[in-house]
Amino acid sequence: MKAALFGKGILGRRAYEYITSSDGVELVVICKDILGAGNGSSLVLSDLPDAADETAVVGLKELSDLYSRGAVDAVVLATDNELADFCVRRLKESGITDIAFLPSYYEEVYEVEDESFVWIETDKPRLPYLEYHISFHCNLKCAGCTHFSNIISGERFGDLDHFCNDLMRLQELFWGIGKIRLMGGEPLLNPELPEFIYASRAAFPDADIRVVSNGLMLRGDMIQVLDAMRVTATYFDVSMYPPTASSIERIASICSSHGVKLTVTPDISDFTAGMNTHGCSDPVTTHRACPASHCAYLCDGLISTCAMPQLIDIYNEKYGLDISGSDSDVTDIYEEDLDGYALLDRLKSPMDICRYCDERRRPYKWFVSTEPEAAEWIGVNS
Ligand code: SF4
Ligand code: SF4
Repeated sequence: MKAALFGKGILGRRAYEYITSSDGVELVVICKDILGAGNGSSLVLSDLPDAADETAVVGLKELSDLYSRGAVDAVVLATDNELADFCVRRLKESGITDIAFLPSYYEEVYEVEDESFVWIETDKPRLPYLEYHISFHCNLKCAGCTHFSNIISGERFGDLDHFCNDLMRLQELFWGIGKIRLMGGEPLLNPELPEFIYASRAAFPDADIRVVSNGLMLRGDMIQVLDAMRVTATYFDVSMYPPTASSIERIASICSSHGVKLTVTPDISDFTAGMNTHGCSDPVTTHRACPASHCAYLCDGLISTCAMPQLIDIYNEKYGLDISGSDSDVTDIYEEDLDGYALLDRLKSPMDICRYCDERRRPYKWFVSTEPEAAEWIGVNS
């Protein structure tokens, strides 16, 4: 195979070293401007591997010519996860459809092999972001939890069989997923968490996968969970609520000793509330102002722009309310003739239920609510 490389930083160097040491792969050129310099933009982020001095360097136009003449069979992308989709679209616009992507986690200790490269199905889009509830309930009862995990009655876990089927269906619709957040509630409460992690990685090798947790329940003897995160390059993504702050050294030590990648948010001492139970907001305006408007949420074959339409029944049940949007707020991913592009358009759009959110959110100091009241979710205008 005659390959071209668009590589950046350490990842680009690792891809270069692998390609140039592989039998059956010839590195023909290195491409320097997939990100736009060839089109008059000044955005050039390609860092060529130091060792690549001997290889010809071309722009996107020249690369496109080489590909159309059969002098290059495929382009290897070894760039930031967040830039992958943009690069794929740029290559596609230039007529290049044979693209292999080396995921960002190969920057680290993981060994690069033939199987490390994700061959991109360029007739599909990439889903930028996905949230999934591993557990709906939580060990911490933060007032105004936006996913209602502090007021759900009893325990509820994500369904592993449904999840695996849904991932297979999403594979039919998308070439990849930018970021998958396995969350809740508290995901560590679900004994099947390792299986969810392995399933996510097997289905979407390109994804930045995160177990989103308050961290308080992590123990050093959770070997299966820790192994699953390490083996699959999944981040343990800790939200730094006040009780977490006093445990963060212990959490960091456990992650470090098990080779698990840890990310920690800045201190979270303030929350905001943004519901309008009257349902009189303009959905377009609230959606435009909403920090969760990109947070596609999946549950048992149903996907929506955010979690609200699929979780609002928890709030309704607790407070005897009847808040709902319209059926079109939620899409059945098994819908006949659905394609990834149409689904992406829906997930970018305001939902009817957005009228139950406020354009302006009410800030308050974080606290644990022992007897949560409906008003704890209410924003400025209602
Ligand atoms: S820790 Fe997170 S999921 Fe749990 S109650 Fe607090 S905000 Fe909700
Ligand atoms: S319902 Fe709409 S406005 Fe409210 S959180 Fe979801 S996307 Fe944002």
